[in-house]
Amino acid sequence: MPTQPLRRCTYPNCRNRVKSGLCDIHRSEKGKQYDKLRGNAAQRGYNHRWRIYRSEYLKHNPLCTMCKDKGLLVPATVIDHIKPVKNGQSDPLFWRADNHQPLCRDCHSYKTREIDKRGYGT
Ligand SMILES: [Zn+2]
Ligand SMILES: [Zn+2]
Repeated sequence: MPTQPLRRCTYPNCRNRVKSGLCDIHRSEKGKQYDKLRGNAAQRGYNHRWRIYRSEYLKHNPLCTMCKDKGLLVPATVIDHIKPVKNGQSDPLFWRADNHQPLCRDCHSYKTREIDKRGYGT
């Protein structure tokens, strides 16, 4: 049985041997960085304090509320403002914990598109 020769992980200075590309560690790190970039782009307008709050909040509320209602267990990635805030962080509703719910990206864009706009005339 010929064994497949292993190569070095393509990450600089990493000595792990892999069949091709990156080792498991660097593959998952790359994924994390990608999430971070996407997250930041999506959160334009939200500052550092919100990001810290968000990561704590999602640690304690890890599942999407709207998916849970449908019986699905989907990891939440955003905090949704149940009542939409109009003036960013200066809006009193922005930091109200009872106005927050964990949602996945899909539900969040669905909600902002289909639900929040109703009755707000935007
Ligand atoms: Zn590596
Ligand atoms: Zn969801």
